[in-house]
Formats: sequence, C-alpha cells, structure tokens
Amino acid sequence: MTETELRYDELRGEQVVYAIDRQERTFLPPAEHCPLCPTLPGGEPTEIPVAAFEIAVFENRFPAFRSPHGAAEVVVYTDAHTGSFGALSRERAQALMWVWRHRYLELGARENVEYVFVFENRGVQVGVTLHHPHGQIYAYPFLPPVPVLELQADERLGGCAPCELLARELSDGRRVVYENEDVVVYVPYAARWAYEAHVVMRAHRPSLLECEPEELDALADGLQTLVRGYDALFDTPERPFPYVMAMHQAPTDGRAHGHLHVELYPPLRTANKLKYLAGSEQGAGTFISDTLPEESAVMLRRAIADVASAAGAGADVG
Ligand SMILES: [Zn+2]
Ligand SMILES: [Zn+2]
Ligand SMILES: [Zn+2]
Repeated sequence: MTETELRYDELRGEQVVYAIDRQERTFLPPAEHCPLCPTLPGGEPTEIPVAAFEIAVFENRFPAFRSPHGAAEVVVYTDAHTGSFGALSRERAQALMWVWRHRYLELGARENVEYVFVFENRGVQVGVTLHHPHGQIYAYPFLPPVPVLELQADERLGGCAPCELLARELSDGRRVVYENEDVVVYVPYAARWAYEAHVVMRAHRPSLLECEPEELDALADGLQTLVRGYDALFDTPERPFPYVMAMHQAPTDGRAHGHLHVELYPPLRTANKLKYLAGSEQGAGTFISDTLPEESAVMLRRAIADVASAAGAGADVG
C-alpha cells in the first residue's frame, strides 16, 4: 500500500495531500456490486460483513489519511441501496448525529488529529463514486485552511464569528429559510454558491459534544428540512440535487474555539446549469455569483414550504 504524502505548498501556505492509491478506487459500480450494501448470505462480500445494519462506520479502503497521520472513515447511513440523507427516517437521522458525535470524540482524542471533518458529497457533479447513501469523515493531522479562516474571523469580530453572524441574519431576516427551537438555517449574506445555506446552532456549542440531546435532534431536523427543500427546488426528482455538506466544529488540537454549524454548497445555479470554478475563483480566489442570496432564500423558503405542505397532505416523506 502506498503511503500518503503531505507536501507543503510554500506559495499558498497550505498542505497538499498525495493519496496515490485512490486512483484505483471503486467508481460507480452497478448496484449488485455496491461495496456499501450489507453482505447477504451466500452473496458476494461487501465492506460490511453483516446481513443488515442501521448505520455502519468503517475505515476508507482508499484513504486520503491513514493512521498514524490522521484517518479517513466512511459512514453508511442505511443498508438500503437507494435513498438519501434527506429521505432517512427522523429516528435514523437523529441516530446519525450520535454517530458523528462519537466519531468526533474518538478521532479527536487521537494524538495526531487536529481537525475532525464530517462531510458528504452528493451527486456525480461533486465527484460521488458510490450512490449508496453515505458520508465521510476525515481526521486531519493538521488544521486545514477553512477552519483557520474561521478562527481568524473570530479574532476579527472580537468573539465567536458564527454567534455574531447568526445574530445579524436573525435581525435582518431576509435570508433565513428555516428555524426550529435550537437551529437556524439561512443563506449567508455573502454566499458564494447560488443556494449555499448554513445550518447553525442557536446556542454557542463548539462541537456535537456540547449539544444537549434535543439540540442534536434539532440539528437533524434542520439538515433534513434543508436538503428536502433542495430536492424540491427545481422539481427534478429523477436527478437528485447535488451538494457538498461540510460540518465545522472546534479543532481538536487543544483549542476549544468553534461554533458547530453545517455549510452546504450546491453547485447548481439553475435546474441544469452548474457553477464552475473558473479563472476568478481559482486564480484569484474571488467568487463571482449571478444570483443574490436574498432571492435564493425566497426560492428555498418556498421549496421548504412545498415539502411541508405535501407532508401535511399525507405524502410520505418519512
Ligand atoms: Zn449499496
Ligand atoms: Zn458561537
Ligand atoms: Zn464554517
């Protein structure tokens, strides 16, 4: 097995990870060869050696990070091959929060892990190689650039940046798309993606570990409400709405700074137009958007309301 190699890009001040054997990884296999399905009696063995399960976590066979230099794990949300995070039952989505919490605790406690990153790539547009509903967790042996930027925002704002930004969004109100008791979902003031949305804990919680059980339930509700809204946005049930879901929590390098929130980056600008990262975004680092966050928020609120009224009318969204 090839070792992962880290190289420091002096020009950008960032680490680059070389995980060469990832080239060999399974790419969109037919459903009957899905490695994330349970291993059925007499059937071909998969990554999960049991005939049924609720949520499964295992080490990625093609890891970007591997012990003792971090870790890479796969989190399979269900033993059913088809479906999505949004389509999970409420109980399963709630259980998933506890699984994420446990992995944050366990991976974060490791000597070499400075940042635990829970994420999901959904849709071939964001590079998904397996359709079975699943997410991933990377445990980085260094603090990656985005968490570094968020810590710098805390310094710039003289306190917790997500607390301050949440207060601004709530007082403005135009970009808030959903709220429950413990979680607020909004299109951020300076969204970079047309339908970018942040799911933010109301109370200051550095990570899943500090959340009360009802806050974890509220987080599951906020996330599922948003992604179901995404699926309803362009009314293209045959083509699931692609997104990257990125959970930001406190680093695990000894600092307690952080405020649990989840950022979703959908690459679609319209039902069939993708946003490409081109010259300005790649070469200068400046996003050019052709949609205003306030207008996207109106559309998202409408989509979320449509899902809610369909559910109220007895449609099965459980
Ligand atoms: Zn499967
Ligand atoms: Zn905060
Ligand atoms: Zn963030």
